Amino acid sequence: MAAIPVSSEYPLRSAQEHIPMCIKHDLNIDMTCEDCDEFICSQCAKTDHKDHDWKTIPTAGSLRRRELKKTLSKVKEKDIAEIDEKIKKASKQREGNKKCCDSEVSKLQKHYDAIVSKLDEIKKNLETKLVENLERKNAEVSNKKLDLEQKRDHIKDLVEFLEDKHGTMSDYSLIDNLRDLTNLVSNTDSDIERGDHSVRYRRGDISEGSLDSIMGQTFDLDDFSVTETDSFQYGDECLDVLEAIDEDTCLEVCVTGKGDVYVTDFYNHDIVRLSPSGSASTVFNTAPLLPAGICQSTEGGLLVTLIDNDTEPFHSDSKSRRVLSHVTLTGDVVREYEYQEDGQTRLFTVPRRVKQNGNTDICVENRTGEYTGELVILSSSGFLKSVYHGQKLTFDPSDVVFDSHCNIIVTDYLNSQIHLLSPDGEFMKYLLTENEVKHPYSMSLYQSTLWVGDNQGLIKVFQLNTTQL
Ligand SMILES: [Zn+2]
Ligand SMILES: [Zn+2]
Repeated sequence: MAAIPVSSEYPLRSAQEHIPMCIKHDLNIDMTCEDCDEFICSQCAKTDHKDHDWKTIPTAGSLRRRELKKTLSKVKEKDIAEIDEKIKKASKQREGNKKCCDSEVSKLQKHYDAIVSKLDEIKKNLETKLVENLERKNAEVSNKKLDLEQKRDHIKDLVEFLEDKHGTMSDYSLIDNLRDLTNLVSNTDSDIERGDHSVRYRRGDISEGSLDSIMGQTFDLDDFSVTETDSFQYGDECLDVLEAIDEDTCLEVCVTGKGDVYVTDFYNHDIVRLSPSGSASTVFNTAPLLPAGICQSTEGGLLVTLIDNDTEPFHSDSKSRRVLSHVTLTGDVVREYEYQEDGQTRLFTVPRRVKQNGNTDICVENRTGEYTGELVILSSSGFLKSVYHGQKLTFDPSDVVFDSHCNIIVTDYLNSQIHLLSPDGEFMKYLLTENEVKHPYSMSLYQSTLWVGDNQGLIKVFQLNTTQL
């Protein structure tokens, strides 16, 4: 008999065991149900497991014995190898976690150093004010001191002169000299107090709250979770726009607070308004440029992405137009965003969907190739804040929404993922992956409810929990 470890966590079964009884039927357990992986009695086999694949224990046993070598070698070769792989992954994960933590700590250190150097600068400025006052005041005092010394010497000389010469002096001269002396003596109380150091330092408040807000805070990505609450099918075509009902693929949609719906009509170069009553009217024409994306501007009016029709989409030249335009509801241009600060580098290759964040930043889905793109984040004044390229070799953004904390939620169509970014466009985590969403194309977020539409008409509804972020 093989040695059996006594205190093993998984007690190995010995060869001899008493035969257990069925609690339900008080019969010997001498059968096994292959469907339920349970030992049963002959009565169980006739009742609860009636239509199941059950066998007597000896039959099942000899079957197992015949397969034993195969079963064990599969466990040895495949299952254990798989567990080893997971163990390796766990080690890697530990290393990765360490790296991630180190990088966050170094960000904190960098910020701390920046604060300290700013504080240092402020301290130096205050110190300079104090020292400058000292220098000015002491220069004044030195002058006064010199003046007094000169006067003192003058008086001494006069006193000496009078002591020596008063006998030979005329009365007139004596009186005159004594008057001079009185004048000299009374002229020495120049107000020395004005030379006192006059700059003082008053300390500020060290309020914990303001220091905290300067230092920043930590947050736990695990606290940002999503739960699927519903899903339904809407036709079987790609859901281009979730706010839309059933539009042509060339239409982009924007709903304003008044309930008016603005759409871009790509082929006719039109921006069209659909009123709540259902009538459609062309608001303005964007020719010769083609309108692509549209959204409401927080400053009023609309943001529209426009491209020219004459140059190769992904090979722009000096004649190309790739513009984000802020226009009034009547089509007057308020501002155009086309180049970076240098006035030469283009902001966009092929700008498509555009959305404005609650913090007024503008996010533009910029196509860089047929299956690749990036998310361009601009301040409302047009300053390029950052460009998000995704986490893998390819990134295929198709839609973007913002949560109440101005975090950015962006789809990655080809990789079947939805990324969560900080308001600055820094990757935080995958909010949803292909287990939950396959080829997400469009999104809509209302408060904490996120709708995700895919390329086959499936809409999934998720609840966001963003309490900590
Ligand atoms: Zn039974
Ligand atoms: Zn069964």
